[in-house]
This record gives sequence, structure tokens and C-alpha cells, in this order.
Amino acid sequence: MKLVVATGNQGKLREIKAILPEHEVVCLKDLDIDIDIVEDGKTFEENAIIKAETISKMTNMITIADDSGLVVDYLGGAPGIYSARYAGEDATDEERNAKLLKELKGVPFEKRTARFACAIAISYPNGKTHTFFSTCEGKITFEPLGKNGFGYDPLFYFEEFDTTLANVESERKNKVSHRYKSLVKLKNFLDENKE
Ligand code: IMP
Repeated sequence: MKLVVATGNQGKLREIKAILPEHEVVCLKDLDIDIDIVEDGKTFEENAIIKAETISKMTNMITIADDSGLVVDYLGGAPGIYSARYAGEDATDEERNAKLLKELKGVPFEKRTARFACAIAISYPNGKTHTFFSTCEGKITFEPLGKNGFGYDPLFYFEEFDTTLANVESERKNKVSHRYKSLVKLKNFLDENKE
């Protein structure tokens, strides 16, 4: 099956290609599409659907899109769908992490529960869309630790590893991540729905 991935992120593309080796996976760049989709949904699922449906309509091809972020319980779910823009449009990962630590100042470890969430949507040219949702549970540390991964990984303590997701090899993180779990659900769905 030929699938379009609605992303410009090469890391995500590699991860998707690796888990769906039997499918021909292309990205927006391969199709010469340069588009800024307004993600104005209220949930991860809604944003993934907006992206997948927009590109599927545009290309008339089966399209996969994802939306992910960090949900912190003490902050009422923030940064949530605003994870990428938490410290402003042009801020760096370090600035976002610094803001998160500031917001959680004085909050004890047991109250720093959080999860990464990932919604994946697959849209078909006939208008049908399916979504898959997964989380990765953890706690926010008091300071950054580790050099691997990206985004909020240096602040994300994962109990099974007894350290942050940035402090383990990427292969280990990628087997427990929210994105990996949603991709497995997508793969199972595609396996069960072969044309
Ligand atoms: P998007 O789904 O690419 O828009 O990602 C949203 C934002 O959530 C990213 O810019 C990161 O800040 C954060 N995020 C999503 N997944 C991860 C992860 O696996 N580790 C660390 N940060 C993540």
C-alpha cells in the first residue's frame, strides 16, 4: 500500500518506515507539498485528524498524521496540545523545559505525574478516518538529565528505566514511547484491513 505521512519531521518518518516495512511510505517533501496546516483542534486526536484529512483530500492518497505532546497533571493537563509552543513560537527545547520546571517549582515528586500522549490518524480518500491513541506514563524531574532524545525527554522520569528518557539509548526509549505504541496499533489495524 502507498501511504503518505503528513510530516516534515525526518525522525518521525524513519520511525514510521521502520514499523511499516511492507508499505511504500512517502512524505510531503517527496510529493513537493509545502503546506502549513492550521492545527486548531482541541485534542491530540482532533489535530491528527485535521492533518490527515487535509492531506488525504489534497493528494487523494491514504494519509497518516500524528499529534503528540506532554500532559502534566499538576498543571491541569498543560502543556498538552500546546507542547511545541509552550514557551512561545521560537523558543528552544531548553526554554520550554525551563518554563516547565518553573511552573512546577516546589511541587513534590509524587505530585509531578505526567504522560506523553500520541494520537495517530489514518485518512482514506473515501473520507473514512481512524485514530489510535497511546500514552507513556512518568514523572517530571527537578532538573534535566541526559543528552539523548528530544523535547521534554531530559525532564521525563520513566520508572522502568529508573532515569529520564533522555538518559537511555534512543532504541530503548523508542520501544516504550507513546508514538511507538500508537504506531503498533496502526500497524495491527493495517494488517487486519488489507485490501
Ligand atoms: P508534535 O507532535 O511534533 O507537534 O510534537 C509536539 C511537541 O511535544 C514536541 O515539540 C515536543 O516538545 C513534545 N514531544 C512529543 N513527543 C515527545 C517525546 O517523545 N519526547 C519529548 N518531547 C516530546
